[in-house]
Amino acid sequence: MRTTIGVFTAWVALHSLTVGVVAQTTAIRAGVLVSPEDGTSSRDQIVIVEGTRIVAVGPDVPIPAGATVIDLSDQVVLPGMVDAHTHMALTMDRAAHGSYFVTTVVGSTAYRAIEAVANARSMLEHGFTTIRDLGNSGNYGIADLVRAIERGVVPGPTMLDAGRIIAPYGGQLQLQPERRDLAEPEYAFADTRDELVKAIRENIHYGASWIKVVVDDQPYVYSVDDIRFVVEEARRAGLRTAAHAVTERGFRNAAEAGVASIEHGFEASDEALQIAKDNGVFLVGTDLMPLAAEMWEVDEAFRQGLIDRIRRAYRIGVPMAFGSDVFYSRPDRSRGEVSLMHLDPYVEAGLPNEKILRMITVDSAELLGVGNERSRIEPGYAADIIATTGNPLEDIAALKGVTFVMKNGSLFRWDRKP
Ligand SMILES: [Zn+2]
Repeated sequence: MRTTIGVFTAWVALHSLTVGVVAQTTAIRAGVLVSPEDGTSSRDQIVIVEGTRIVAVGPDVPIPAGATVIDLSDQVVLPGMVDAHTHMALTMDRAAHGSYFVTTVVGSTAYRAIEAVANARSMLEHGFTTIRDLGNSGNYGIADLVRAIERGVVPGPTMLDAGRIIAPYGGQLQLQPERRDLAEPEYAFADTRDELVKAIRENIHYGASWIKVVVDDQPYVYSVDDIRFVVEEARRAGLRTAAHAVTERGFRNAAEAGVASIEHGFEASDEALQIAKDNGVFLVGTDLMPLAAEMWEVDEAFRQGLIDRIRRAYRIGVPMAFGSDVFYSRPDRSRGEVSLMHLDPYVEAGLPNEKILRMITVDSAELLGVGNERSRIEPGYAADIIATTGNPLEDIAALKGVTFVMKNGSLFRWDRKP
């Protein structure tokens, strides 16, 4: 059993050190340093961190006087991981049995935000230093979590937030006529251009840094023009758009409209995947195998279809980002652990370790728009650094055994041998 309280204490102690006027300097001795960008690793490297940033990397860089030395010479050091599709404020259990209604009725935004604090901490503990949270957070429950993490009130990854999900009437729910209000504020229903503009601007006002639309969970779906309109309106304010699309038609519309990422894409044909590739649209696969095994009965043929879809997307060359889409709990695992189970479908699909590692770091950071400041261990980059015992280039499952986590130069976890 991990001593979570000890981990938290370490975070508070070192975090407060970095708040002072003089930037804290830390030297990390890395037994092996992995570069996910080119799939290489080098032995016996030193990484110098000053304040929140990496300032030097190499085998012979001098360790400044007074620096705190962290000895990871028996560990494999790499950049922190990125989960491009999370729901920190949505935790369904078996009692809810797949109904969003139950969550919205029994869970206040305040309670869900408290759960989100625990989930975000678990994500960081397991090596995710950046995440993109794609809605289902009650009444903007994540906006305050983002603020609290940025201010150092609670630990958590760097978070991007999509606020309320914008969707055609009904969103992802089947409403009952007597209680039309139950879906709000979970979703912002928008069926006209005016409603789309309003939904986007409300989201931005309340802190969203991404826009998420659900394209196709109702018989009426957003058209290419609708989605293009959203992409443009969001872009005017400097935001990019993620589109939930499960069907072939929804996927095509979103791919043709040039969204930044398509979430799920379970039924995407080769032709639709090619459109995504041509338009530089990322596929965030969110292949729900662990969920299927635990909570819902899922047809084996459907599961195999998802694996095949990963293989086809890889072959066609669609940009891919890692997204777990975990919105449920398991009694035996924390949120971060369950998220990491979503590596398994990529292994089953036969993708090389190098590709999977790149996807969960550099490529996901690029999608999130933080590729030039995070996910590389190079001078000038944010000090988001993790360590594992094994080398993920040899066995990607090594990522499930994170032993060290630093985010923005603050030490959060370090499992030292006694
Ligand atoms: Zn989702």
